[in-house]
Amino acid sequence: MNTALDTALFTAWIEETARTVAAEKERLTGLDAAIGDADHGANLDRGLTAVAAVLAAGEPGTPGSPGSPGSLLVLVGNTLIRKVGGASGPLYGTAFREAGKALGDTPEVSVAQLHAALEAGLAGVRKLGSAAEGDKTMVDALAPAVRALEQAVQDGKDTAEAIGAAAEAARTGAEATIPMQARKGRASYLGPRSVGHEDPGAASTALILSALHTVATR
Ligand code: ADP
Ligand code: MG
Repeated sequence: MNTALDTALFTAWIEETARTVAAEKERLTGLDAAIGDADHGANLDRGLTAVAAVLAAGEPGTPGSPGSPGSLLVLVGNTLIRKVGGASGPLYGTAFREAGKALGDTPEVSVAQLHAALEAGLAGVRKLGSAAEGDKTMVDALAPAVRALEQAVQDGKDTAEAIGAAAEAARTGAEATIPMQARKGRASYLGPRSVGHEDPGAASTALILSALHTVATR
């Protein structure tokens, strides 16, 4: 199947992400209760509810609404930065904004362009939070997803398959945070007591990429 990665698909992605995070809010907050301050699910849900309201206010392509996947992601990023406190708001906001900027105003995104956009998003997160892989953060889910997408481009996989590989890599990456000791963010205050729990931000990154896979295979 070759799904067109156009503004409608990106809009559906963000809406599906908002739905998934709302449905998984308690689980994300539970993960954050174990190694943080029990607000990650609520933080993201608040931000994405605000994003969904902004999107519902206008159809893509009409005046005042994003006319390209890139401008949509910039709008999502700016809204998250405005609405979400804590570490994850600025980090996710930056990721979406940088990914959107990398896309420019192209109306339809190729898998290679999607890879470049996620790579730019990851670079933004790294620059802002200075977390490396292994520090038990969202980077541990996002970085392997970006690599899987790069590999899929090289292998000439179709759009849905490539996104599936990225989503799976993010899920595996999130699970791999369980035995890690946190070296960044609030969880790092716990030291060795952070071991044995999945990182909430890595878990939400896996949800976000899984939402993209869901809409790409519809
Ligand atoms: P807060 O920690 O301020 O309460 P959240 O609970 O919403 O914010 O988000 C916590 C998540 O943010 C963590 O699980 C981790 O994935 C991510 N995070 C925290 N600090 C960093 C950082 N420096 N770099 C990358 N991700 C980070
Ligand atoms: Mg928190």
